[in-house]
Amino acid sequence: MSAFILDGKKLSKSIEKSLKDRVEVVKDRLGRAPGLGVILVGEDPASKVYVSSKGKRARKCGIYTKDLHLPKDIDKEELFRKIREISSLEEIDGVLLQLPLPKGLDEFKAISSILPECDADGLTPLNQGLLLRGEKSPVPCTPKGIMKLIKEASNNNVLPKDLSGLNAVVVGRSILVGKPIGILLLEQNLTVTYCHSRTKNLEKVCKQADILVAAVGRPNMITKDFIKEGAVVIDVGINRLEDGSLVGDVKSEDALSLASSYTPVPGGVGPMTIAMLLENTVELAEAKIKN
Ligand code: NDP
Repeated sequence: MSAFILDGKKLSKSIEKSLKDRVEVVKDRLGRAPGLGVILVGEDPASKVYVSSKGKRARKCGIYTKDLHLPKDIDKEELFRKIREISSLEEIDGVLLQLPLPKGLDEFKAISSILPECDADGLTPLNQGLLLRGEKSPVPCTPKGIMKLIKEASNNNVLPKDLSGLNAVVVGRSILVGKPIGILLLEQNLTVTYCHSRTKNLEKVCKQADILVAAVGRPNMITKDFIKEGAVVIDVGINRLEDGSLVGDVKSEDALSLASSYTPVPGGVGPMTIAMLLENTVELAEAKIKN
């Protein structure tokens, strides 16, 4: 078997293209473009690359961006104040706080400083609570992008349209990826199992999965021993090796030979995360249009 590639690069491009029309409607109705505030704290090189790429792609869709680059030794109260300030600007609809923050800064308090109605990443406590309850809220970008890739698998007959009763296994339980993707899969009536660093018999549990999501941050950890033949394998991991190359959490050749479909790294989940950030920003702006 050679897995069907769930091409996040291609899908994200078509989503971003369709956002341009929605941006025009917002401009017409609000008299301004949707606005995205991007906050970067410190000098982490990977974060700098992500922030720059998010900004470029936002502007390509016609979204206005405002960058706030803060020093890594910023006083925590000052950081929270700056986050509240950018969230409250008239021209800003969505705020992204680039994570991780430098050591010593409280991520939970920083995220909580974003106004929930401006929460483009869907990570504020209020929005995470709404997600848990199945209520409308900005959905965290990576899990939202994964659900679109899973839909793509259904559209290509790799998965049934109705996912009810399928087994999903999520390896990783962060608030950014693992926990919310499990909730979204549960909403689609899958039977969801969460795994983490204390899970026993991880291979055996993963081998039960019709949909296996790896969000760990350990290069090539998921090998053929973890993958059921015909499973859909979603590789969220982004790991840079010493030679500079990027690999996921899943050994790609094993996924390619065993899975029915697979998200490559790079070019799978990563580009979808950015597309969903832009989609969430446009949705938050659209919510301000009065009928
Ligand atoms: P975290 O470090 O917050 O969480 C990692 C999770 O993996 C934890 O729940 C941890 O378990 C679990 N874990 C660690 N080691 C093992 C192990 N040996 N066996 C089973 N579980 C294990 O990471 P994130 O969720 O933020 O990110 C995960 C990966 O996804 C990273 O590579 C990150 O770079 C990438 N990522 C990619 C994105 C994209 O757009 N493609 C977006 C966001 C992240 P425990 O809780 O017990 O410690």
